[in-house]
Amino acid sequence: MENTVLRLILGDQLNECHSWFSHVDKSVVYVLMEVRSETDYVRHHVQKVVGFFGAMRLFAARLRSLGHRVHYITLDDPNNRQTLTENCRLLIEHYKAKRFEYQEPDEYRVDEALRSLANSLPIETQCVSSEHFLSARDELKRLFSGKRTYLMERFYRAMREKWNVLMEADGHTPLTGRWNYDAENRKRLPAGVRGPKAPSFERDVSDLVALLEQSGVLTIGRIQPTCFDWPLTRSESLQLLEHFVQYRLPLFGDYQDAMSQFDALLFHSRLSFSLNTKLIHPMEVIQRAVAEWQAHPERIPFSSLEGFVRQVIGWREYVRGVYWAEMPRYRALNFFEHTAPLPEWYWTGHTRMNCLCHAISQSLERAYAHHIQRLMITGNFALLLGVNPDEVDAWYLGIYQDAIEWVELPNTRGMSQFADGGIMGTKPYVSSANYIHRMSDYCSNCFYDFNQRYGPKACPFNALYWDFYNRHAARLRANPRIGMVYRLWDRMDKVEQQRILAHAQHLKEQVSHL
Ligand code: FAD
Ligand code: SF4
Repeated sequence: MENTVLRLILGDQLNECHSWFSHVDKSVVYVLMEVRSETDYVRHHVQKVVGFFGAMRLFAARLRSLGHRVHYITLDDPNNRQTLTENCRLLIEHYKAKRFEYQEPDEYRVDEALRSLANSLPIETQCVSSEHFLSARDELKRLFSGKRTYLMERFYRAMREKWNVLMEADGHTPLTGRWNYDAENRKRLPAGVRGPKAPSFERDVSDLVALLEQSGVLTIGRIQPTCFDWPLTRSESLQLLEHFVQYRLPLFGDYQDAMSQFDALLFHSRLSFSLNTKLIHPMEVIQRAVAEWQAHPERIPFSSLEGFVRQVIGWREYVRGVYWAEMPRYRALNFFEHTAPLPEWYWTGHTRMNCLCHAISQSLERAYAHHIQRLMITGNFALLLGVNPDEVDAWYLGIYQDAIEWVELPNTRGMSQFADGGIMGTKPYVSSANYIHRMSDYCSNCFYDFNQRYGPKACPFNALYWDFYNRHAARLRANPRIGMVYRLWDRMDKVEQQRILAHAQHLKEQVSHL
């Protein structure tokens, strides 16, 4: 008992390939716990809580089957003190542990809590790498040392070189001579095109749903307890990866930005939950995609492969780098000083705006929306309306299966809301109905007319778009990437401008009835 080493495994550290598990050591007890401090710091989607707890339970069973000792604390365990740190103290005492170890947490909040726990313990402690990411926490900060902004493209190229992914033999030239295929990866979805049928991982999670209800955990969204369909193990995650590279990757690039009310997933991978819980490693995902392209270059366009690799080795590592470079100040940034409340229909989907109704209802139903739905529908509207970024963050952090602060915060507050004033992006991601009409089939079934700027049937995105640029002219006019917008606005008839602004004001006053 006295020689026991306690090793804490957090709910997003379910990496069975970690060197911790390379051999069985009976003096080591692995600890996993379901705690209220994690279920309650924001209101989560019910599928998200069930997904995390379900994956943790299966991971604990997997470790036991490999011969490891595991102490698992369920949410309703009478000895559960409901915080990570208090439970760790209790277990250290219980096992009379001589040493406490944990893996580098990905969230600032948890990192601070565990660091302060470790500092206060009278025994040896150690924080080890989670052996998951392709860049160190401070790698982006070092790369951009002395710079005010972080260019994703530069970071992405550095990562490709570092890991020799899609590079020529010299290690510096990108394969095909081009780094970036974004221009090819923005096609509109032809009518009737749907993504392939996804593999099913249906399982009965009624016990977990009942546990949350009995414990009084407040959640959002819907769940079908008898056929819960997220991959919760490493082998299911690998199955999803296999399905993706074979059936979705070929068209991933082409329709990466497309949106359809008939297909939530299109050609996206749905791998983010598996990646963020560390059930699978980003490099194995990349290598599998590259291998499939090497085997079938006639079937998989290079632009698709590059588009996918960019997401995983580029965007995913990049947002993590921004998070650690800028926390904790990042979560309080509000460049536009936006204060409007989030419309209440973000929690129900009850709006006549078809794009928002669809993206929100789908998120409540599936805890999933793809990147462009998050950025150019829900995020775009919140930014145009001037919603307080704290409320936008809470919504995104709660509603998506893959939402963990290190990845949610830079994407939401930075990329989507431009609340960092341009640390991540060179200009705000906003659009009028034009973009949504071009990239989706939403507008054809909408109560509103995407062509009109004002009037009872005018698409709200249009007036709010001009209102946004007009009210933030002092902050944005000098931005060379936005010059064209202001030239168009300036050339517009003054009466037309006034009508647009008056309509925008009316929309803001009536927002709950849109
Ligand atoms: P695919 O389109 O198949 O992409 C493949 C993988 O690339 C994803 O699984 C993901 O791991 C990675 N990836 C792609 N884009 C990004 C990105 N911008 N940042 C980080 N990783 C990326 N992603 C999260 O994992 N958690 C979040 O909480 C989250 N919040 C977001 C909030 C907003 C406002 C926006 C605009 C984006 C957010 N994203 C978040 C990024 C992206 O939308 C999701 O990673 C993606 O939609 C997950 O679906 P998928 O697995 O089918 O992705
Ligand atoms: Fe959305 Fe406007 Fe198109 Fe309706 S018309 S779906 S509100 S963009």
